Amino acid sequence: MPTIITHAYTGMIGASIFTSKVSKLKFWLLSIVCPVIPDFDVIGFKLGIPYANFWGHRGFFHSLAFAFLVAVVATIIVISVQNVFTRKGFGFLFYFWVLTASHGILDAMTSGGLGIALLAPFDNTRYFFPFTPIAVSPIGVSRFFSAWGWRVMKSELLWVWAPLAVVLLCQKSLRVIMRK
Ligand SMILES: [Zn+2]
Repeated sequence: MPTIITHAYTGMIGASIFTSKVSKLKFWLLSIVCPVIPDFDVIGFKLGIPYANFWGHRGFFHSLAFAFLVAVVATIIVISVQNVFTRKGFGFLFYFWVLTASHGILDAMTSGGLGIALLAPFDNTRYFFPFTPIAVSPIGVSRFFSAWGWRVMKSELLWVWAPLAVVLLCQKSLRVIMRK
């Protein structure tokens, strides 16, 4: 996995680009929390669930289907149940879905561990993309403060932080230009 900090950063960029006029604080908090949620499946290791299991790390909880369920809940929290199936609701649904799904997609670009069950529960194959430039992050805090952790941070800065910062900068600049 990229580090939790990097997944949260993705959410911050998302919230900065797609600002919400309603429930601003909830929108921001959920934007940061949603892309982090899939990694709570590491609890499975403590519960004895094997890595390669459907419920194991990078299994169902990293899938696009699970990301959709998270998006439904996040949308309900931000704009209430009765508004989910409205135009506005679909906008929020799609936003939170893409944001949460970004977790599995970034993980599929890492250089180690097992692949990601992106299409679970329909297809439980563990996938990697053909392009895996992000160094896989160690699981556990202690191992993170090591040469390995530093290598991971460098690759995430290069392949995630910098490109997303450029996207945000372009979007903000465009907004300023359009206003003039
Ligand atoms: Zn992950």
